[in-house]
Parts: sequence; structure tokens; C-alpha cells
Amino acid sequence: MASGVTTETTARGAWRDWHAEETPIRLGVSSCLLGEEVRFDGGHARDRFVKDVLGQWVEWTPVCPEYEAGMGVPRPTLRLIDDGDGERMVAPSTGRDFTADVQDFTRERVEGLGEVDGYVVKKRSPSCGLERIRIYGSDGHFRRKNGVGMFTRALMERWPLLPVEEEGRLNDARLRENFIERAFCRNRWRALVKRGLTRKRLVDFHTAHKLLLRSHNETGYHRLGRLVASFGERPDAEVFRDYEAEFQNTLRTKGTAKKHANVLQHALGHLKRTLGPTEKREILTSIEDFRRGLLPLVVPLTLLRFTIVKYDVDYLMGQLYFDPHPKELMLRNHV
Ligand code: SF4
Repeated sequence: MASGVTTETTARGAWRDWHAEETPIRLGVSSCLLGEEVRFDGGHARDRFVKDVLGQWVEWTPVCPEYEAGMGVPRPTLRLIDDGDGERMVAPSTGRDFTADVQDFTRERVEGLGEVDGYVVKKRSPSCGLERIRIYGSDGHFRRKNGVGMFTRALMERWPLLPVEEEGRLNDARLRENFIERAFCRNRWRALVKRGLTRKRLVDFHTAHKLLLRSHNETGYHRLGRLVASFGERPDAEVFRDYEAEFQNTLRTKGTAKKHANVLQHALGHLKRTLGPTEKREILTSIEDFRRGLLPLVVPLTLLRFTIVKYDVDYLMGQLYFDPHPKELMLRNHV
């Protein structure tokens, strides 16, 4: 790198400015995805993106529900069985019912997972899968394919706002970006709570996330604004509690090209008196090209960020929307 040149952004609203070393980004993960040999046959399911790419930025809390529930390795393959009296986990080769073992372990284990920022689970597993898990009858016949792994279901029931994704779905650029953005947002919230919530800190937090929230859910963004404005009318603890729930709930709605384009145009509006007609036209064209799928999000974002820094636009300099997670993950190069 040339001397004196840095590739770090000079805007204030960078994820690093909000990151607290004492609150590292922590993700739960199905152990086999990290390469641990805990699958029924003694193998693993190491996922390159999870282990090698994401792993550079997060600390893991690995869990293998079947192994840790005492089933050992190797072990018989398991199935979810449903005869109308609730789902059971059974080894079809022996008929042994492992439901109680998994449920006992799960109840205790998920309780301690409130301090993670997200969770990556292994697809197609009757314990860990997020969706489309095969359900059988006790007669051995296939019934339906809309089950959720027993451990993951309990995890999501206990922590309904926790971002949870399957490793397979993380191959989809939009789902990947959305999951990681939510995890980083949840981590910033946890760091804020650890520092101690005050009215001023919550207002600063909300202000920095404004454009990011709007790229997910405009209605949720307005609800959060009203919550922040209600300080003084309600006990602070109630406002903090409701803000946390609404913040994470708002982020659950996925961003779309249309919503991002609207946010980018809104940001451009803050520069209308600053930019000349050529600059304005070039940025507008890149936003429109992004909306039409001709350019990735990173292009209009980079153009806008350049002008924000160049003209020192205070409000936009503080917006995390322009830098919500490490650029090395290149999450916005493909959405
Ligand atoms: S139970 Fe989950 S973590 Fe364990 S091997 Fe199966 S998919 Fe992997």
C-alpha cells in the first residue's frame, strides 16, 4: 500500500466505530459445519464460507445437539416421526426413541444462547435443520416435508428475534447479507446494553441506524422514531425494552432493490444543494441502474460515500447504512 494512504473509510458511521472489543460478534453454529467430526457416521460437513470467511470476524459457539445429548459417534441415523401426538425423534434402524434425550439437552442448552448475535444451522438435519425437514409416520412412510429440526425449533421459540440461517441459504447473496447485517446490528445493541443504556446513547444509536432501518422496513423505522420520542412520557426502562424488540423485529424484513434505491435517493436528497448537475446525474443513473439489476449495490453506495466524505455531510457521515459490516466480506458486491 502506498505510504500515507489508508483503505479505511473516513466516515464516522463505520461498523468499527461501534464495535466493542469486549463484546465480540458471537454466532452459534452446528458443530459439524466447522469441521468437527460429530456426524452420525463420524464425518463432518465443513462449510468453507462459514469456517474460513465468516470465521475471521466472529467467535463461534458450536453445538451438536445429538452428540452432546449423549448419542455418541457413530450413531444410528434419526428421523422425525409424527403420528398426530407431537413430533418424536426416532432411530428407524432400531426403533429407539431419542426424543427425551434431545429435549432435555435442548431445554438447558438454548437457555444459555441469549448472548449470541445469530446462529448458523446445518440444513436437512432432524435436529438442526431450519426448514423442509422430512417428517415420517411410525409406519415408516413419508408424510410431509415442512418440518423444523428439534433443536432449532426450540432455539427459535426461546429466542424469536435471533437471526437464524442455514448454511445452504447463505449461498444466496441477499439472504447472506441480510443475516450478517442483522447479526452485526444485534451485536451493536448488546454492546450498547453492556455499556449501559441512557437516553442519549439510545438516541445516538437510533440516529446512526436510521437509513439502515429504512432499507428494511419503513413502517418499523417510524415506529422506532416514535418510541425514541416517547422518552419522558413513559418509564425509560419500558422505552429501552420496546425499542430492542422493535429494532430487531424491523430488521427481520429483508431489504429489496426498491427499498435500497429509495434510501439511496433519500441520501442523495441531502446533497442536492452541494452537488453539481453532472455529479447528481451520475449518482442518480447508478441508483437507477442498481434498481434495474444492472449494477450491484456497492456501486451507487461507493459513489455516494465518496461525495459524503468529500463534502463532509455530517448527518450522512454518521449513517451505518454505508458501512454496516466488514467490506472484506464483500456482501454488497452481489446484491
Ligand atoms: S446434530 Fe446438528 S451439529 Fe450434530 S452432526 Fe447433526 S447437523 Fe451437525
